[in-house]
Amino acid sequence: MTDPNFDFDLIVIGAGYGGFDAAKHAAGKGLKVAIIESGDMGGTCVNKGCVPSKALLAASGKVREIANYEHLAKFGIHASPVRFERSKIANHANNLVSNVRENLTKTLKRIGVEIILGFGRLEGDQKVGVRDNNGIDKIFTCKNTVLATGSSPFVPPGITLDNRTVFTSDDAVKLEWLPRWIAIIGSGYIGLEFADVYTALGCEVTMIEALENIMPTFDPDITKIAKKNLIQSRDIDTKSNVFATKITPGCPVKIELTDAKSKEIVENLEVDGVLVATGRSPNSKNLNLDSVGIETVKGYIPIDDQMRVINGEKIIPNIWAVGDVTGKLMLAHAAAAQGTIAVDNICGEHKEINYRSIPAATFTHPEISSVGLSENDAKEIAIKESFTLGVVKSYFKANSKALAELESDGILKLLFNKNNGKVLGAHIFGMHAADLIQEIANAISRNQDVIQLATEVHTHPTLSEVVEVAYKQAASQVK
Ligand SMILES: Cc1cc2nc3c(=O)[nH]c(=O)nc-3n(C[C@H](O)[C@H](O)[C@H](O)COP(=O)(O)OP(=O)(O)OC[C@H]3O[C@@H](n4cnc5c(N)ncnc54)[C@H](O)[C@@H]3O)c2cc1C
Repeated sequence: MTDPNFDFDLIVIGAGYGGFDAAKHAAGKGLKVAIIESGDMGGTCVNKGCVPSKALLAASGKVREIANYEHLAKFGIHASPVRFERSKIANHANNLVSNVRENLTKTLKRIGVEIILGFGRLEGDQKVGVRDNNGIDKIFTCKNTVLATGSSPFVPPGITLDNRTVFTSDDAVKLEWLPRWIAIIGSGYIGLEFADVYTALGCEVTMIEALENIMPTFDPDITKIAKKNLIQSRDIDTKSNVFATKITPGCPVKIELTDAKSKEIVENLEVDGVLVATGRSPNSKNLNLDSVGIETVKGYIPIDDQMRVINGEKIIPNIWAVGDVTGKLMLAHAAAAQGTIAVDNICGEHKEINYRSIPAATFTHPEISSVGLSENDAKEIAIKESFTLGVVKSYFKANSKALAELESDGILKLLFNKNNGKVLGAHIFGMHAADLIQEIANAISRNQDVIQLATEVHTHPTLSEVVEVAYKQAASQVK
């Protein structure tokens, strides 16, 4: 398969989850592969994202559980006051990061992927340039290139970071200190997960959201129950419809809040720390994209469903892009799936991605998850495609396992097509929601209908019966 006319069959720029998967899959298919990384192997997910944040959530979740005397007392358990060592929780996350990073690097080396440390860029058709950390520049030829350069935290204008008192998730995952009072700017999944960590570890949180409502990106029914459990019942104060127009680091940190509509300054806050969790920007600068005619859209690299980079209708030959830099679904497993599909297409197999079957989760306690369409999008599609939308809800309070765990506040909303029974989407709040969504994601991926799904037997007593109940309710409504 290797082409002797090129230095490499494939050069991947960026060794995050997307780049890693593309490189690994390509090497597995016999291609001669190089991967270029300018930072830490493993990218955001391994070093500053999924891995350390989930380690912090795991540890802080245990603290929350043991500190919840009232909850434990309902089981007849009386625990002594919980003590924790912040630095050891931080070490747990750091050690996990090192292990995962090391394993990932070893895997690439073992399968023969050449790792090149430096900043990669395109150098015209089928050429990639690399400047290493010593400033030495090299140019390689390659048959195909995958751009997998990921994303970085977006910091709105007016906010000054000092990475100590005002910081992004890049520093929050290090858990270097616990501000007594922390403001979290943004109520997306990153803001919510850190609010979970900080409140479990005894910090007071103020959550600031520019849009009208807190948690604006979640399903409204899920938001209602999640807000009650994750925000109102905790030491969290919320302010929505306001922009943090100026944040000055220091002791205290000063925050100026401006009304989103009137644009008038409405409040000045003084807090101990600020986490800026206002979304992420694509890493598409200095890649010399012009050299092959790539035009970004709001900084994102446009691709089609085969991961080919496009410029309007035009396909840019031999260039592929995957992961956060494409702005499609900014999640690690989506980046990895895109990486695999890009390589399959490079190898001549025609593969397309189905974003609708890729689930997403927020690892709060309890968790939130979703897959497929939102209810609003499903309503619009139902009108356009002339079918009747079905919506059923299944509740954790009717589930024996959830009741046994005394964790019965939860809901699953299932969206389906009443005419043919096909599953369109699902939104879950409740214990282990991140695991529960997978079954529904698989059903969407396989294009299954609720009539068939309702016949599948689920283990009793498990939380998966919440899904079974929803399938059965839905099946009874199919016309
Ligand atoms: C706090 C946090 C928690 C998260 N939790 C989850 C989660 O639980 N589940 C989930 O699915 N997702 C989660 N994510 C999102 C996930 O981390 C990203 O979607 C994923 O890392 C994207 O992978 P990627 O390969 O596209 O890019 P990245 O992981 O960003 O990797 C890109 C790599 O490219 C390198 N690079 C950039 N430019 C160049 C260049 N010119 N030359 C060489 N190298 C370059 C970068 O240094 C980086 O290593 C989380 C993110 C954050 C911030």
